[in-house]
Amino acid sequence: YPTKNTIVFHDGSFVKGEKLGVNPFSQTLHYGYGVFDALRAYDTALGPHIFKAREHYERFIQSAENLQLKVPYTTDELINITYQLLEKNSMTNAYIRPMLYLGTNMELVPAEKKHLLIAVWKWGKYMGKDLLDVKVSSVQKPKPKNFLVEAKICGQYLYSMVANNEARKEGYDAALMLDYEGYVAEGPGSNFFYENEGKLYTPPRGSILPGITRQTIINLAAELGVEVEERLFTPEELANVDAAFFTGTASQITGLKSIDGKPFKKKWEDTIGSALLIKYGHKVTQSEYDGYSII
Ligand code: PMP
Repeated sequence: YPTKNTIVFHDGSFVKGEKLGVNPFSQTLHYGYGVFDALRAYDTALGPHIFKAREHYERFIQSAENLQLKVPYTTDELINITYQLLEKNSMTNAYIRPMLYLGTNMELVPAEKKHLLIAVWKWGKYMGKDLLDVKVSSVQKPKPKNFLVEAKICGQYLYSMVANNEARKEGYDAALMLDYEGYVAEGPGSNFFYENEGKLYTPPRGSILPGITRQTIINLAAELGVEVEERLFTPEELANVDAAFFTGTASQITGLKSIDGKPFKKKWEDTIGSALLIKYGHKVTQSEYDGYSII
């Protein structure tokens, strides 16, 4: 994780993280009213490359707009600032966390002052390190009509954290969250796919964050000739499927070993997820790009 010496970008300048401190009256701290995103840079043959930087920063700007906030930079400016920040920290493999948070105001109307923070920390290759034991969570996500499910809003992550805490306390690695009707939605910070009889299935948009990795995987599956169906399904339907995995910027493609203690049938090495991980890993670390976007 970031150390005190890590340089961050804050309100127009590059400063040491330790210089920032905490504003005890930040509205984001009190009410969770702020937005963030998550990106990864990979060390490639042509130097550090941020995976799908444009898509991530466009989502960041969109998340802010969902809360009637304006990011004070364009997508191109944010990308350029981030490359500068990586260079200042001498980082190539890194996790990148932009956040728009609010200044002082204890009333329930957005503070005038908005702050833009971009933090980076070293995060080496993760690529399918461990398989996870997952617990179906008792936490259900809110009704999409009542909440902005498709935006990365700070306060929204309390569902993910409560779900994960519940799973960890019971000895699992992570949670699988349900939507408000009890259908499978997603992991606490990743999307969910399962494999059965040579085909992949994933929940449709509605109660999930439409992950950039999720879309990448749908595209890569097509390249492998694998069909992906977006459908609603209950956790009970997962009892007899062949395999499953999470996708996301942090998790990349992470295979699941079991769900509620019931192991998946296939060995991970023989799954479509494993084949996709190899393809994905190759694409993000080789110089197969088009502008700022790999794949
Ligand atoms: N769902 C949630 C709740 C997430 O936080 C994330 C991580 N951003 C994802 C899915 C995966 O999205 P992405 O592939 O864009 O990282």
